[in-house]
Amino acid sequence: MTLPERDTRVTYPDGALGATTRVLHVAPAGDGRVAVITETTSFHPVDASWPDQPADAGVIRFGGGEVPVRDAVVAATDGEVLRLGADVPVRTGTDGWAFVVAHLVDEGTAIAEGDEVEIEADAATRRALSTGHTACHLAALALNRVLADRWSKPAREDALGSPGFDGAAIASSRIVPNGSVDRYRLNKSLRRAGFDTASLQGDLGTLRHAVAAQLEEWIATGAVVRVERDGDGLTDRRSWVCELPDGTARIPCGGTHLGSLGELSRVTPEFTLTDDAGTPVLEMTNEARIRH
Ligand SMILES: [Zn+2]
Repeated sequence: MTLPERDTRVTYPDGALGATTRVLHVAPAGDGRVAVITETTSFHPVDASWPDQPADAGVIRFGGGEVPVRDAVVAATDGEVLRLGADVPVRTGTDGWAFVVAHLVDEGTAIAEGDEVEIEADAATRRALSTGHTACHLAALALNRVLADRWSKPAREDALGSPGFDGAAIASSRIVPNGSVDRYRLNKSLRRAGFDTASLQGDLGTLRHAVAAQLEEWIATGAVVRVERDGDGLTDRRSWVCELPDGTARIPCGGTHLGSLGELSRVTPEFTLTDDAGTPVLEMTNEARIRH
């Protein structure tokens, strides 16, 4: 069987749930799964290099029936080998490699190379993850703005011109259904960059109120949200764009999103301070509610 030569075309950035397409490759994936690679997909995969948004849930329908997709991961091939998820040995976009979405289904499926299939991502799962992801970006901007006066040196600015605490300190970001969990390392290099890490200790209640108030103000604007992209390939650059009255925010993003902040009724942030081998870690957990 031949391996794909170009990136998978992806339709989920525009909100698509379904795609009718052709199977290019089927390969064993270990753990009792096989990887199904198609020309196009509507299925959002998890990217092992920055695994913020989990994979969609859903099914692949084909002539012989329907199979559940157990997971979907970013994979890469140089024409010789196919590597899945964390086994991809090169940076995303490396020349000579095609980056593809591998839909993982149970072994024993009759899906074969050349089949016409219908891919369908579950709408409720997608919506909950899109809600969490939109809330995540908005909360990061709110946090940056609220923490702006704790910098003593110029810092790299965020998408709205605030000092970029999120960009400077982020260790991991996880999108969950209707929410997000971001972890920020308050380490020496952040202190040296001019951020007053000590001032956060014991001040989390004030921080929560201020971030919540900023989120409420932005949500009330009902600002339009969209994903802009340079092309339809998996690795083509995409950005989250939010047209806030304070300015249009643009953040590089490979995920899925709501169509406007008007779909949110509230985003509730919580902050805790933990410790990772002696380094203080600020954790921001957001819970988003949808307007009904
Ligand atoms: Zn994102």
